[in-house]
Amino acid sequence: MSLRVDPALANELKEFGGGTVSRCFNCGNCTAACQLTNQDAVFPRRYIRYIQLGLREKMLGSVDPWLCFYCGDCSETCPREADPGNLMMASRRWLIAAYDWTGLSRLMYRSVRWELVLLFAVAAAVLAWFSLTPGFGFRLLAAHPEARQTVMLQCFAPKDVIHQADVALASVLAALLLSNAARMLYYARKHCQPAPASAWLAALGEFVIQGLTQKRWRQCASGASRHWLRHLLLVFAYGTMFLLVVVFLKWFQVEDASFHWTSLPGYAATLVLLAATLSIMADRRRKRDPIHRHSDVSDWLFVILLFLTSLSGILLHAARILDLPMPAYALYVVHLMIAVPMLVVEVPFGKWSHLLYRPLALYLAEVERRAQRARAAAPAPLAPQPAWGR
Ligand code: SF4
Ligand code: SF4
Repeated sequence: MSLRVDPALANELKEFGGGTVSRCFNCGNCTAACQLTNQDAVFPRRYIRYIQLGLREKMLGSVDPWLCFYCGDCSETCPREADPGNLMMASRRWLIAAYDWTGLSRLMYRSVRWELVLLFAVAAAVLAWFSLTPGFGFRLLAAHPEARQTVMLQCFAPKDVIHQADVALASVLAALLLSNAARMLYYARKHCQPAPASAWLAALGEFVIQGLTQKRWRQCASGASRHWLRHLLLVFAYGTMFLLVVVFLKWFQVEDASFHWTSLPGYAATLVLLAATLSIMADRRRKRDPIHRHSDVSDWLFVILLFLTSLSGILLHAARILDLPMPAYALYVVHLMIAVPMLVVEVPFGKWSHLLYRPLALYLAEVERRAQRARAAAPAPLAPQPAWGR
């Protein structure tokens, strides 16, 4: 394969938070310190070298940054203070932008203003939907004065309408994320020898287990278990909320001030979301662990939006139970004005995309490992017989 060198690449990575790349002199200390690296995936030194040499194709085709969980062990040992852990983080942002065919990720990561514009635009669209749609939201209240005396959510936001909107939104976001993941798959396999079907099938377990648990994180040396457990609880909490809102909305969205059992998993998930996001924000402020030392604005936005979604959900719930109709309707809209932009902007284009990219990368790494083993175990082709031996 012929490789084109792009000297502007190191400068490009700086725009994604990787400003220390030129400090590295490739000693390899970081790779020696990393508990996750092995002979099949030698990182972070190799990937940093790709950046320095301007090997764009190699960077695009490598899944190494996704195999890193940013424990920071390598950064502690770097003699040049190049912060290799953070360089892996910046590389993940660069890759997210490269996979995204719409170009929105690139805009967002290079300019906070663009990320805020997108978030506010989606929030404004939600507000307009509830304010301007005839026979729905605030316009329906005008025709139903009784809904202003007591909470009647079915009148303000009918479940079937919200459910259809939920399913449509989830489908669009899934299509966007999957199309970007297809590009990741293409780049990663572009220059590889084909892997046998048995390798693809046998590695599927890795995809499922890592996607659900990210348990590889626990192999990191310093403080990984605490961060891993918090992350796991967070994943299960927003997974629970996603199921309640998209699949079980019929029961979860209670129409009046009454109580339904689906609130119980909702309470548990909301408490976990609140506690986990508060704890992450405190850690980011303290900057004690390497993982929190270099928080990009997008890292802050992600956790703040998640916190505000949980908080507005609790306040909405309280207004409904206390039978305060107008505050309940207003909080319903505010809750969606936070949750919908967070999902629309962060899932396919931002930080949340790692929920698919990381397990996919671990899957691809496992497929390649199995394919290489199969190639090594295959009998060598017979050498051609010399003419005189026939
Ligand atoms: S990042 Fe630091 S530890 Fe890693 S190879 Fe470069 S100089 Fe060495
Ligand atoms: S941050 Fe941790 S997992 Fe990532 S490369 Fe460094 S040592 Fe390895």
